[in-house]
Amino acid sequence: MNLILFGPPAAGKGTQAKRLVDSRKMVQLSTGDMLRAAIASGSELGKKVAGVMERGELVTDEIVIALIEERLPEAEAAGGAIFDGFPRTLAQAQALDIMLKSRGSQIDQVVRLKVDDEALMQRIAGRFAESGRPDDNPESFKVRLDAYNTQTAPLLPYYSEQGKLTEVDGMGSIEAVAAGIDKALAR
Ligand code: AMP
Repeated sequence: MNLILFGPPAAGKGTQAKRLVDSRKMVQLSTGDMLRAAIASGSELGKKVAGVMERGELVTDEIVIALIEERLPEAEAAGGAIFDGFPRTLAQAQALDIMLKSRGSQIDQVVRLKVDDEALMQRIAGRFAESGRPDDNPESFKVRLDAYNTQTAPLLPYYSEQGKLTEVDGMGSIEAVAAGIDKALAR
């Protein structure tokens, strides 16, 4: 089973993905985590993406598609992937479909964590100082949110037309959102 956790930045995708990894033994594929690891390792890729990420802009499709492709065999061996923060553009979604298809697989479900921008800004305002992420500041966060609304949210019709999209209220407690996701997955 391959699942996409979909939603704006700071919607709780990472937290919920980690819970699913524990409960369902799936592999979390977070392009954000992979890119941060590349930066931390001081690799050429890390140097290339650091500025773009710090500003809150999207890195190129080519880079993130290659990162995902590299990790697909591992996810397949575990019985499935939870895509967290990928795909973020239509080109990424189409590339993912092609990569999975060539491996005899597909996206089974897309769970959208629904949170509104206003509430999200308020919810995370207090966390900027403590997160330690260079892109967790009001300016970069706004760019990240804009990137979501203009480049990523348009993917929703792509998945709903395929009958794969379920919406879950993402504004509750971690436990309440987790329960909503479990319910969606049991459909
Ligand atoms: P995240 O941890 O998912 O919020 O990602 C942090 C940052 O990494 C984003 O703001 C982008 O700069 C970059 N990034 C992560 N995933 C992608 C992706 N699928 N496409 C483009 N950029 C990405």
